[in-house]
Formats: sequence, structure tokens, C-alpha cells
Amino acid sequence: MSNQVILVDDQGLKKVMVHYAASKIVRNAPGVVFAAKLTDTSITAYKSGKVLFQGGGAEREAARWGKIEGTKASAKETTKGDVLPDHLAKLSVVGSDETGTGDFFGPVTVAACFVRADQVELVRELGVKDSKQLTDDLMRKIAPDLQATLIYSVLTLKNDKYNEVQARGWSQGKIKALLHNQALKHVLRKMEDEKPDYILIDQFAERGIYYNHIQSESEIVRENVLFSTKAEGLHLAVAAASIIARVAFLEEMDRLSQIAGVELPKGAGAKVDEVAARILLKSGEESLKSLTKWHFANARKAKAIAARKRK
Ligand code: MN
Repeated sequence: MSNQVILVDDQGLKKVMVHYAASKIVRNAPGVVFAAKLTDTSITAYKSGKVLFQGGGAEREAARWGKIEGTKASAKETTKGDVLPDHLAKLSVVGSDETGTGDFFGPVTVAACFVRADQVELVRELGVKDSKQLTDDLMRKIAPDLQATLIYSVLTLKNDKYNEVQARGWSQGKIKALLHNQALKHVLRKMEDEKPDYILIDQFAERGIYYNHIQSESEIVRENVLFSTKAEGLHLAVAAASIIARVAFLEEMDRLSQIAGVELPKGAGAKVDEVAARILLKSGEESLKSLTKWHFANARKAKAIAARKRK
């Protein structure tokens, strides 16, 4: 059974009550100001402004209120995804995150890593915090310590392989989901008999879509899996995974830069088009392709720039 919570103000509460008026039921429980029952969802509104949705239709009903004035999608207004357990940050968690998906040059990397409750402080002392606050150089310094201390798995999907599966019709969502599932599987296997309290995936797709992508896998990690956006700020296991994934990305970028004979820029901006055009003129299309995510618009733009320069 799925649980969803939204927060409403007085105005939002009135809208909720009007909307479900036809399905209203009486529930004499402490703090309850309104209750309703649909065929697949129970709705309970509390004095505190929390509205709880329970049952098979909980996600659908809660989502209805996500963008309506006077309501918030969840108790944590900055994140999207599952309602998270209290004190999650202090529990034993396997976290996973990816990087490189928005960069024309370089691989997609995904890392998963296990931080046991009694390692949380140590990991913080190693310098791990929300990876959005760390520079690449700092992450390069921290990653080796993390890899020496924690159970982790990191996967680098190189460009040739990426381009091959992309051409076969795999979306980035599918690619990411498969890599996350695989990295999580590896970590759980290395943990042997130990079990995490939760697995926390930095959310890039709704749960149903994620599991759709990996449905034909022989082993699917499902137990105690939570999805949330901005998960690197919710548990250090995701922050650590994010750092390990980032450094794997940077290392592959170093290797590709050696091959290209030029420092490959990150991202997908105008600088990227310029450098790509230069590589195209110097080494040809196949060489450029093997350094890039070829389906990005940057490939077309680079070809146009190169064509102009040839004249
Ligand atoms: Mn992420």
C-alpha cells in the first residue's frame, strides 16, 4: 500500500474538502478534520495541515494537488518523490546517483555505495557533503578515501557502447535505470548478509517508469527502495555515490582528452560545439563519435561549424 502526504493551508484544505465532498466519511480520530474514501484511496486531513492519501490510488490523488495554489506536493517542499522515513539521514543506506548524462563528451557513470549508520560521521569527516557544494578538484581528493572505506560499485558506460544502445532505441532513462539497478545489485552482493535499512535512488524517473525500464532484467532490486530528487542532500550515501560517479566521469574525460589531444569541455554549450568541430576537422567523424553522445544536437552543430571552416 502506498502512502502520500501533502501539506495544505486553510485555502488548500477547503479545496480538498470540496473536491472529495461526495466521498466524505465520518472519522472520529484525534486531529482529523476531514476524511473521505474513494474506491482505491483513503483521504485523511489533519488539523496540522497534513493530508494523508493511502491505498492503490494514493500517488494519483496526491499528484492532483501538486500544482494547486495553497497546497504543497509533499512535506518537504524542495524535493519530489517518496515520503521519506524520519531520521533517514542517520540510518544505514545504500545510495545511488549518476553523472555525465548532460555532457556531449564523455561517458555516463553511475555509482552506488553503502554507508552504515555508524559510518555516517566518518563519511562526513572525510569531507562528504551535498556534492553540489563541492568542486571537481575536491571530489578527486575525497573519492579515493571513500573507495577505501566504503562498499561501493561504479559503472562507466563508455561512448561507443552508449552510442550503440542509444541507436538501438534505448532512452537515457532506460540506460540510467539499468545502470542504477546493476550498481545496486553489485553493492548488495558485496554486503553479503548485511542489509541496509533503505536503498535511496536520486530520482530521475517516477518509480513505475524506472521499473518498466528494467523489467526484463533477471535480478531487480526492489526491497526498501526509495526515490527522491535532491537525494544527495538527504543521506551521505547518495552524496558519496555522487562523488564517486563524478570522479569516474572526470577520469574517463581525462583519458578521452589524451586521445583527442585537447582538453574536452564538459556540458553541451557553444564551447563544446567549437572543440567538437576542431576534432572533426582533424580526425574525422568516427573519431569524434567515439568521444561523444552522438545523438546530442551538438553533433549537428559541430558538423555545421566544420563545414563553414572547410570553405
Ligand atoms: Mn542525480
